[in-house]
Amino acid sequence: MIKLNLFNERIMPMMRILDSHAHLDHALFDTDRDELFESMAQAGIETAIIPGVSPERWSKQLDVAKRYSCPYGLGIHPWFCADNPQQALDLLTDKLNSYIEDPYLVAIGECGLDKIHKDNWHGQIIALQAQLSMAQQLNLPVILHVVKAHSEMLAMLKRYSLPRGGVIHGFYGSLAIASEYIKLGFKLGIGGLILNPSARKLRTCVAQLPHDSVLIETDSPAMTPRNAAESRNTPLILQSIIAEIATLHKKTSVLISEHAFRNTVQLFDLKLILI
Ligand SMILES: [Zn+2]
Repeated sequence: MIKLNLFNERIMPMMRILDSHAHLDHALFDTDRDELFESMAQAGIETAIIPGVSPERWSKQLDVAKRYSCPYGLGIHPWFCADNPQQALDLLTDKLNSYIEDPYLVAIGECGLDKIHKDNWHGQIIALQAQLSMAQQLNLPVILHVVKAHSEMLAMLKRYSLPRGGVIHGFYGSLAIASEYIKLGFKLGIGGLILNPSARKLRTCVAQLPHDSVLIETDSPAMTPRNAAESRNTPLILQSIIAEIATLHKKTSVLISEHAFRNTVQLFDLKLILI
């Protein structure tokens, strides 16, 4: 029996998998969060990074992160940003001061720019600038949400050179844009959109991305893949994302997952958290 297990491990090495971006504090997980974490463990998903989105939601986010030992970011998402975000930014400064010694605080974010929700564009810019300078001062990476605003984001990142870079989460763009981010020290978070056969631009781009630039993520409960059984997304689709990237790269899932795991651990400095 023991021999058989060893043999199986050798031919099928266990993939180490992390969800680099999942909002597992969301109310859609309130009824079955324990079961979801149990299913994740059974599927070999070790943990998920939970990004922060707004002052109103930080306290529940921190409770969930603590209960399930998840690393997390603290930040103000562009959708939840007031025209004058100064009050929220002051609260963010206070929160960061309280949690800066917590090894599970691994990033500033999620913050960014979103032109689909551009009613608060002015506030988005102010909040992003402030959060980039917090990342600089605290020497933390940033988790960035960028929708239809790559040129503005790239210009901003050139002004604030961040020692630890960050990730463009849920990346959707061309290889040329991806290369600009990579040059600035950023990784690209690839999520469930890659499973959509009509996402041709993204699939072409991902097929050519260097292995050391890719993180995998689900953005759960958002970004549910087409034809999924559940209306909410969960980290349980990570293996399909890995398999799809592997197919595009003509490599094995093990190789892709190893790179994505290592990239995530390095970017967010998770080695003290993960055994
Ligand atoms: Zn998100």
